[in-house]
Amino acid sequence: MPQRASQDPLPVRVAAPVTVTVAPSGEQAVVRRPAAIPFDRSAWPAPSPFRTATGEPGPSYWQQRADYSIAVTLDTTAKRVSGTVQVRYTNNSPDTLRVVWLQLDQNLYRPGSKGSAKYSAYSRWGVRGFVGGYDLSQVTVNGVSVTPHVDDTMMRLDLPQPLAPRGGVLAIHVAYGFNVPGYGSDRMARDGTLYEIAQWYPRMAVYDDINGWNIDPYLGQGEFYLEYGDIEYAVTAPAGYTIAGTGVLQNPEEVLTRAQRDRLERAAKSSDQVGIILSSEARARPTPGTKTWRFRAERVRDVAWAGAPDFRWEATSWNGVLCQAYFQQDRTRGAWDRAAEMTQWSIRTYSERFFPYPYPQATSVAGPVGGMEYPMFVMVEYGSNGDPDSVFGTIDHELGHQWYPMLVGSNERRYAWQDEGFTTYLNAFSSERRYPRTNAYEGPLQSWRRIVADGIDAPLMTAPDQLELGALGVVAYEKPALALLMLRRQVLGAELFDRAFREYTRRWAFRHPTPADFFRTVEHVAERRLDWFWRDWWYGTGTLDLAISGVTERAGATGRTVELQIARTTDLVFPVAVRLAYEDGTTQDLTFPVDVWGDQPTVRVTAPARGRVIGARLWPDGLVPDWNAANDIWGNAPKPDPRRAVTIPKGGAGR
Ligand SMILES: [Zn+2]
Repeated sequence: MPQRASQDPLPVRVAAPVTVTVAPSGEQAVVRRPAAIPFDRSAWPAPSPFRTATGEPGPSYWQQRADYSIAVTLDTTAKRVSGTVQVRYTNNSPDTLRVVWLQLDQNLYRPGSKGSAKYSAYSRWGVRGFVGGYDLSQVTVNGVSVTPHVDDTMMRLDLPQPLAPRGGVLAIHVAYGFNVPGYGSDRMARDGTLYEIAQWYPRMAVYDDINGWNIDPYLGQGEFYLEYGDIEYAVTAPAGYTIAGTGVLQNPEEVLTRAQRDRLERAAKSSDQVGIILSSEARARPTPGTKTWRFRAERVRDVAWAGAPDFRWEATSWNGVLCQAYFQQDRTRGAWDRAAEMTQWSIRTYSERFFPYPYPQATSVAGPVGGMEYPMFVMVEYGSNGDPDSVFGTIDHELGHQWYPMLVGSNERRYAWQDEGFTTYLNAFSSERRYPRTNAYEGPLQSWRRIVADGIDAPLMTAPDQLELGALGVVAYEKPALALLMLRRQVLGAELFDRAFREYTRRWAFRHPTPADFFRTVEHVAERRLDWFWRDWWYGTGTLDLAISGVTERAGATGRTVELQIARTTDLVFPVAVRLAYEDGTTQDLTFPVDVWGDQPTVRVTAPARGRVIGARLWPDGLVPDWNAANDIWGNAPKPDPRRAVTIPKGGAGR
């Protein structure tokens, strides 16, 4: 088909025009030839027997397995954790392995670490002058002592014998200890007698079919990429301590009182909060000796725990999931009194709305860590301003991570949008459900506009450690959430997008999806190529700016038509959504598919008109982040809808 000259009218039946007008706003669209739309998918790994072109695990998909058995002692005098870890590592890959890599995250606190060089000491990820790191006293592989090769936060072990492919098993044993940092780069901490312990044992690095060994160091801003397995761990702590952690407590009769066990049993059957350690009981008492708390967690990528001698402990349940909160009363000033219910709220909302919660319990712990997620376990700020809503916001965010990346195990160190962005997207549903008069769209939109104005916007595909600190919260969290909300509302529609998102979760639960696996799954379920959308929102930093540059009405034998001339001032394209205002006071919403765009800066789209058009507005639902709102209207423009990020179905649970 020959190329159409841009000034040719689109093929509509045309009679003599009755009205001809041009955009009255005075905003002149910049007329230049934009980039062609097609997107080079060479950035995506080619389909393979491991990952298909439709975005699902292929017939030969494999991933490694790491099961751990850990036993440590918390020494609150030395402020030190020490003990042993045994890893049973299964090589399911088709490759013979001659080395394995482990992550030694505590080495961030070694003098001269890469992370301490990159992030200033008192920044969020800074080490604040703390000197720590792992002391490794013994490392064996299959019982043979080996010399570890430690490079910053990564450790390579050269295997005495090669590890066979497709099921070869290796036993790694490490005896270790580390001094607990007071400020653990906002991921762990201690505060007085309270300990929040994470990144606390040598963890297997991921060996996958895309990168081989993933040995990106832990610098501070980038999170974790971990293998799945079953983890049992024992924490020996001063006898007066209460330990909360990932997994199911294995020895309640040894560490809890009879009354506490009875209350816990009641909480497990109750949808109301039950006090396990009551406010009158939550104080430290001098108790000689130690107690060992044993936990077990199945199909997890990590475990974390916390301990204090004066925790108040509240619990409730939903659908068989025990939902718990542990907090110190003096530091939380009432903000945590309903935190077990908040925990339940998030688990229930995300289970009902997206995908069933995969674990038997969920725990929120108050402490100095601002907000950090681990399987079944989240660390959330004290809420020392006494504001339960700010505590809820963080609990709700961190619990959203139980799905991404705890259930769907993406590579957080490379692709923060795949966990932080997805979680922020989930949070929009939860927050508008809990606070019906609020709007979860405006904040992300304003944040994104700010970093664009500051010149620090970056493609979503940027690794988090390469982002400006001021851009992290937007590029990793809010911008991908905006993009997903847009994809859902304006591009695919809620029903189709929800189906695609659920299918991605189902396909990749307990697995390691790459970005391409997500893109391909969405396209496969939606039966649509979305090259333009990934290019514009994931790989680029452009801003969208469409303009109504002309409105023409025509009356002909078959009735009236309205022709809209739509200009784009940037390379970005988008399906065109317009609300027309008619002389008789009515309005009409029209949409035109993204396919109307070519490599020209303007397009003309036509539709039957019901009467005389007196005004028009792009984006009638107010939910497309068009950079320049001034050129989105023409004439006596109709009002947009109030902005809501999501529409919560009526009859949903109230507060
Ligand atoms: Zn997060």
